[in-house]
Amino acid sequence: MENKDFLEFGKATLDFIVNYNDTLRERDVLPSVEPGYLSELVPAEAPEKPESWQEVLSDVERVILPGVTHWNSPHFHAYYPTANSYPAVLGELMSAGITTLGFSWISSPACTELEVVTMNWLGKMMGLPKEFLNCSEGPGGGVLQGSASEATLVGLLAAKERMVRHMKSQDPDLDGPLLKTKFVAYTSDQSNSSVEKAGLLGSMPMRLLPVDENCCLRGKTLLEAMERDRKAGLIPCYVVATLGTTGTCAFDNLNEIGPICKENNVWLHIDAAYAGAAFVCPEYQHLLAGVEYADSFNFNPHKWLLTNFDCSAMWVKDAGQLINAFNVDRIYLAHDKQGLAPDYRHWQIPLGRRFRSLKLWFVMRLYGVEGLQKHIRHSIEMAKRFESHVLSDERFELVTQRSMGLICFRMKGDNSLTRQLLDRLMARKHIYLIAATCREKLIIRFAVCTHLTKAEDIDFAWNEIRGQGDEILSAKLQQEQIQLKREEENLNHEFSGKEGGIAARLKNMKIQDAKQSQKIT
Ligand code: PLP
Repeated sequence: MENKDFLEFGKATLDFIVNYNDTLRERDVLPSVEPGYLSELVPAEAPEKPESWQEVLSDVERVILPGVTHWNSPHFHAYYPTANSYPAVLGELMSAGITTLGFSWISSPACTELEVVTMNWLGKMMGLPKEFLNCSEGPGGGVLQGSASEATLVGLLAAKERMVRHMKSQDPDLDGPLLKTKFVAYTSDQSNSSVEKAGLLGSMPMRLLPVDENCCLRGKTLLEAMERDRKAGLIPCYVVATLGTTGTCAFDNLNEIGPICKENNVWLHIDAAYAGAAFVCPEYQHLLAGVEYADSFNFNPHKWLLTNFDCSAMWVKDAGQLINAFNVDRIYLAHDKQGLAPDYRHWQIPLGRRFRSLKLWFVMRLYGVEGLQKHIRHSIEMAKRFESHVLSDERFELVTQRSMGLICFRMKGDNSLTRQLLDRLMARKHIYLIAATCREKLIIRFAVCTHLTKAEDIDFAWNEIRGQGDEILSAKLQQEQIQLKREEENLNHEFSGKEGGIAARLKNMKIQDAKQSQKIT
């Protein structure tokens, strides 16, 4: 493609994206396609001859958009946000345009050095202890991973190596591979699925521990689990605490868990994938209390900090632990500045690495700390608006307290009502919400996701929910009335021919009872 065409295609693509964003509210948030829809819209073979960019671009509307779930729609309230902003989109474009890989400092010094700088900016903005920063005197530092899942796995693998080294330093005759088979990891039963998966991938049993009434993992539970395992000859090695769980955005108790990990020489990793972004606001930094006990800390700017996927910020207190675990050298990877700046390939699973920090840098500069704080505060304001709608309707209830931009609510009564509500909302596709469970109750999670969300979007969602709630309850009432009528008819039949005296009175009492119990339920 020549420069001229690139510029025209680029301009048309940007126009397309702007138009897409402008029309997001008009599109159903969930697509109406069936599996296999796409292969029916495109040829079975790749084109023999080059096509024009105009043909390709028009196929994005025809082939792609019908099958897109619109994560950036203000009507998307499922999961947690996946961030998006124009500065980040252009940062991605710039990164693709420059095309460079930063696996070692020399493979692209700017890629490494901008990552060091942006991670320091971000860490300072969030109030992380300075031991985690690249600019501290110590061995700490930050790195951008592709996902929180990778960060959890990286922490687990580093924890394993650190424990083996520690134990062998006390008894050099110990058999490293045998020791590894005894290592155990711990997390709460509310932690993200990726945490359990890290245990599977890293061959370390991951204990999913029960939580307290606030869905929070407590120190006592962790300590008891560790003691049980020690008695069984196993070795506690890794703990993942969550700040902002996926189900209800609960915060594990770091001040209780941290000292236990420290005393037992167990690696503590903090997964703050979603809620971590809120720490750019000083008023939420108290929720970080206990972070000083952690060996690694992770959150996703690609969730709630306006930076497009993928961008997962991970800090470690001692980068040497990662390097010891992941260092594999080859002559073609060596350079004469080794040791003077990070060679980030040692901090991650793959060799190659994208220039992710460019988009983060664009975002931080174009929003400024103030702009980022405004974004977080706006999302929380929107969540409070939704919360007040739920509280204003006695047929609904909050299951947990609102936490950050997440509200967990349900219809009062048995779980079938909430199930019906979700099913109806999914079928209508006007808003997208997902279920979770909390203390045996089926709940609906409502997350404020995109930066485009306005008060009227929250009201729109609530009207949609309330309207479907009305229909479910009136259908329920109708059903109950039909049932009552049937019972009345049965009674009439039962008592026909025996009118008078005790029998008539009994009949009346039964009808009154049935009516009363209908009123109560
Ligand atoms: N941890 C928590 C608490 C999450 O909520 C999520 C996803 O929502 C993840 C981890 C996984 O994040 P990623 O997709 O970046 O691996």
